[in-house]
Amino acid sequence: MLKGKTALVTGSTSGIGLGIAKALAEQGANIVLNGFGDAEGPKAEIAALGVQVAYHGADMSKPAEIEDMVAFATKTFGGVDILVNNAGIQHVARIENFPVDRWDAIIAINMSSAFHATRAALPGMLAKDWGRIINVASVHGLVGSAEKSAYVAAKHGVVGLTKVTALENATSGVTCNAICPGWVLTPLVQKQVDAKAAALNITNDEAKGLLLGEKEPSKHFTSVEELGALAVFFCSPAGNNIRGVAWNMDGGWVAQ
Ligand code: NAD
Repeated sequence: MLKGKTALVTGSTSGIGLGIAKALAEQGANIVLNGFGDAEGPKAEIAALGVQVAYHGADMSKPAEIEDMVAFATKTFGGVDILVNNAGIQHVARIENFPVDRWDAIIAINMSSAFHATRAALPGMLAKDWGRIINVASVHGLVGSAEKSAYVAAKHGVVGLTKVTALENATSGVTCNAICPGWVLTPLVQKQVDAKAAALNITNDEAKGLLLGEKEPSKHFTSVEELGALAVFFCSPAGNNIRGVAWNMDGGWVAQ
């Protein structure tokens, strides 16, 4: 379905970003990966799906590097048809103890990076009159949780940016929507599981059960494959007129 298209997925060396990149590659899209850590493993996993893959190591807290990444994708594959703004980090602390540098980093990586990548990729999409911008927000773009001030502020910002991007391009073939996952067992969440297990002197499985029990009525994690399938749906013809939604996949978290 996406043969001939190019998808740039930020923060795709791990977790949800890699899952979405694989799902788009399974539909035939060429992929530009981004993120820290090992890129060779993810590159090989994408190449095995029979599409072309490239990697750019832009630090998503740096606007100039983001611009360079979009230019690289355009030069390598002729444009960015699908932009998935996914890179993100977390820090958990009460506001009065929240390190200012973590606040700044979370706002930059989880929110401002989506603005910078979008402004760089949009002209090429509009020129082709087709594009998909998918912002990986969170249930924390819709509701709050204690000790996550920067993350919740950034994700609410991403949901707002999603609506404005959708509206500004509503008469074109470029759509913008947000995906709002609940708990997904990626390295980002495993750190929170480990912290809970250590703080309460309980096992990893008990800590997972507690995390899920606090928030997620289904009591199970959303998988990266399920999130990848939702991204593919937004890219399908059925998604042509879905504009500015924040679609939660959260086991019932925000239905409560
Ligand atoms: P993860 O830690 O597995 O992956 C994060 C990715 O972002 C990695 O590839 C990492 O290298 C990259 N990254 C981090 N800082 C970067 C930077 N400065 N520049 C470039 N890349 C950078 O985490 P994940 O759980 O897969 O999270 C992906 C997105 O999903 C995030 O935006 C996160 O907020 C969101 N999310 C996650 C969950 C969850 O439960 N895991 C729930 C809701 C939303």
